[in-house]
This record gives sequence, structure tokens and C-alpha cells, in this order.
Amino acid sequence: MKITVVYDNCLSKPGLRTGWGFSCLVETGGAPPLLFDTGADGATLLYNMGKLGIDPGQIGIIVISHAHGDHTGGLSDILGINRHAEVYVPASSAAVIPGRKVTLVSKPLQISEDIFSTGELKGIEQSLAIKTTKGIAVVAGCSHPGVGAILDAASRYGQVYGIIGGLHGFSDFDRLKGLSLVCPCHCTQHKSELGHLFPEQYMSCGAGHELEL
Ligand SMILES: [Zn+2]
Ligand SMILES: [Zn+2]
Repeated sequence: MKITVVYDNCLSKPGLRTGWGFSCLVETGGAPPLLFDTGADGATLLYNMGKLGIDPGQIGIIVISHAHGDHTGGLSDILGINRHAEVYVPASSAAVIPGRKVTLVSKPLQISEDIFSTGELKGIEQSLAIKTTKGIAVVAGCSHPGVGAILDAASRYGQVYGIIGGLHGFSDFDRLKGLSLVCPCHCTQHKSELGHLFPEQYMSCGAGHELEL
């Protein structure tokens, strides 16, 4: 399983562009590439995809974590290029995209063989729970429902190995004890505290960052 950060506030790989928002590509064996969130604008998203060698036409599934512009901004550009990807959005966003199969997610559900949604939590946001050989990898957009609620929801699919994504103002740091990987991205306000508290588990995030589990 491989996660490539395509859009982030910070930079991991020279030559890419940054922007306030989040998007990553999830590749697992046997399933089509999945794009999780689309950043704030299509131009930056597509530019970074080009630099990373990601073909937008090959994306089979698009999952939107929540209906905030820094996660949905590139969606229309991707849909303009890619005419076949299935789209999963939280039920509260009630997106209707003409000619598309759109799944409105409220309860936890399976998206592909190894990828699951936590379901829409607290009426705003869904996260991914990905089965890997090491355990469950959680991918979060902004973590508006709270990191604890997301980890609880993901743990129905197995022991959580780690979390990558936007953690917003999360400061209930004890909730991360026991994880093997903490990779805070995007809107995370307490990155330096997380780095101090979890030096072994901490991995810095940015556009171009690649994570293989
Ligand atoms: Zn948000
Ligand atoms: Zn955000």
C-alpha cells in the first residue's frame, strides 16, 4: 500500500507547489488508484500530479472527506478529465454530480478490497481506514470530528497502526499512544508538540511525501 501526498500546505519534494489544502493518492494491490480529497484548486493539484507522474485518468475512485473548499476545490477539474471514477462524499454534503455514480456516505462502508470509510462522523467528515500488513492506516482530511472519534471508528476494522492527514487543533495527545506512525499534515496546529512527544513515530508531511506500508 502506498500513499502519495499530492497537495499540502508544506513541501516534501522540490519542484512541487504548495497550497492550503490536502489531497493524497492511495494505491493498493488489486484496486484502482484512489484519490482522497482534491486540495483547494485544480491547477495546483494537476501540476503536482504531473510532476509526480500520476495520471488523473487512471484514478478509479475519488473520496471527499468533507465539503470544505480546501478539500473539494480540485474536484471539478479532475472530473473534467476523468469521466469514470466513482465518487464517495459524506452524506451531509449531498453532492449530485451529473452522469456520475456518487455514493453518499453516512455509515461505515467498504470502498475497495482493503479500503474502508469510517462513515460520516459528527455530521461532517469521513476518513479512510486502510488494511495493511502492519495494521490499519487511517487517512484523515481535517479531523473535524476529533482524532479520538476517528481512531475509534477506524478500529472496527482492526488494530490502528498509524494516522496520516490533517489533525486540525488536536491536542488530546494521549489518544495517539500505541500508534506506530504519526504523520500530521495540512491544518495540524501542533506539529512541533507531536514531534516532541512521538519522536519515533513522527513523520513529516508535505506535497510529494510518499509512504509505503
Ligand atoms: Zn475542513
Ligand atoms: Zn482542511
